[in-house]
Amino acid sequence: MEYRKLGKTGLTISRMGFGGIPIQRIDAEGTRKLLHEMADKGINYIDTARGYTVSEEYLGYAMEGIRDKFVVATKSMARTKEAMAADIETSLRNLRTDHIELYQVHNPSMEQLDQVTGKDGALEALMEAREAGKIGHIGLTCHSVQVFERALELEWVETIMFPYNIVENQGEDLIRKCTEKNVGFIAMKPLAGGAIEDASLALRYICANKNVTVVIPGMAEAGELDENIQACEDEKSLTEEELKKIEDVKKQLGTDFCRRCNYCAPCTVGINIPSVFLFAGYLQRYNLADWAKDRYSTLAVKASACVGCGECEKRCPYHLPIREKLKKCAEDMGE
Ligand code: SF4
Ligand code: SF4
Repeated sequence: MEYRKLGKTGLTISRMGFGGIPIQRIDAEGTRKLLHEMADKGINYIDTARGYTVSEEYLGYAMEGIRDKFVVATKSMARTKEAMAADIETSLRNLRTDHIELYQVHNPSMEQLDQVTGKDGALEALMEAREAGKIGHIGLTCHSVQVFERALELEWVETIMFPYNIVENQGEDLIRKCTEKNVGFIAMKPLAGGAIEDASLALRYICANKNVTVVIPGMAEAGELDENIQACEDEKSLTEEELKKIEDVKKQLGTDFCRRCNYCAPCTVGINIPSVFLFAGYLQRYNLADWAKDRYSTLAVKASACVGCGECEKRCPYHLPIREKLKKCAEDMGE
């Protein structure tokens, strides 16, 4: 296993990490088995979140006795100081530890980022927790290029997590800037939320980019480990055959895949189009119906509110049939 420094955190981590979303599908015992296998195989980076329901709890149970084998990263959607301080305590309790190596601000919008960094914002709680030794480093995760750009200007941001895969390479220039600024880059959604079926090819594509510090495929079974490790360890450049397959995947998904760039905004009736597609994808591709519906329920305007004006489609650079897709989302999510 190849190891890298995670930007200015100085933490040494394996090039392949573990994405903690899918363990919501299994149980604490299954998670324990998986983590022991990972420890044996030298995978030491674990990503979870306050928002991934039982994920932190299962990981806490699973790490009993082997906690020192892992660098743990979690994240919170809290935007105020008070809420972030409370979430850090909950994470520590769930993860059964007194120290979390990396704590991230989870997917803020531009406005929310102002709140996080403003007076009584979440950043104050993160700084205090770092001072107190409860967390080691502070990072940020996002889905929008605009937030990514802004995060690169913020001194306190030590790591950035952003989607990066065969069909979502809109962050490539910014990922390169992460290296220039010594900010650790964590590639999330390596399989584009499950849309890319060939996991090995997807991981090979990501690891061929030297600016990616770590990639975090979600896994729920030990069987998936070996194949993923092999793909991440393979440092050879992409072969002609692989490049051709990559082009085929791009062609296949290119016309039907939301990159969450948000160029389609503003929707006439206020639908947050990329979020609808994101949450519906958790149900359609990951089979995480309850969690997907729970997150979907937080959206103020649901897909069913679309009046079919078509304004969004004129702005989508990928010419997605947004209206048609929203109709399917409304059916799947029930509203
Ligand atoms: S077609 Fe639907 S989603 Fe698109 S802008 Fe109009 S109302 Fe919004
Ligand atoms: S629907 Fe199109 S414009 Fe809107 S976020 Fe997705 S890819 Fe971007």
